[in-house]
Amino acid sequence: MINLVLFGKPGAGKGTQAEFLKSHYQLVHISTGDVFRFNIKNETALGKLAKSYIDQGDLVPDQVTIDMLEAEVEKNLQAKGFIFDGFPRTEAQAQSLDAFLAKKEMAVSGTIALEANDDELVARLLKRGETSGRSDDQDEAKIRNRFDEYNEKTAPLRTFYTAQNKFHSINGIGSIEEITQRLMAVIDSL
Ligand code: AMP
Repeated sequence: MINLVLFGKPGAGKGTQAEFLKSHYQLVHISTGDVFRFNIKNETALGKLAKSYIDQGDLVPDQVTIDMLEAEVEKNLQAKGFIFDGFPRTEAQAQSLDAFLAKKEMAVSGTIALEANDDELVARLLKRGETSGRSDDQDEAKIRNRFDEYNEKTAPLRTFYTAQNKFHSINGIGSIEEITQRLMAVIDSL
């Protein structure tokens, strides 16, 4: 079983790359951002709760996110493995993921961060915002707030996973195909 965690600031290309990786390795792709947006669109209780945070570019509270992620895994227990895209984003989430997977005799195989500089990412996100309709992609202040959340809460996970010998990073600048090749080189070495 391969269970991958993709890290990277907003706009780093996690979702795009996960689409390729899931078919190549036959993994179930769970994007917490996508699940939240699905719930917002369908006006569920979870969607209503998450919306105010997402609209501001803040992280949704840990327990809400953890419960949702666990429910998504439970729906797919027959999977060959998972790509976690956008989760964990805090140390509390990373600890609960480890504990949850351990109960199922599963584990994170490796984590890979897609690295790109902020100015490149802002440009990508504003461009995506023209067509995605995502309010959090259309305003540079909200985008910068998402980066601040990443730097403050998610970047420390580098230390968390390095301590487990599970942290890798790759250059996230280049063509989509080049980045896929870089990711596959890491995954094949796990
Ligand atoms: P994304 O699509 O991954 O960029 O996520 C969009 C937004 O959803 C984030 O800015 C957060 O508000 C929320 N979100 C997604 N994943 C998480 C998470 N693991 N923890 C907290 N909030 C999250």
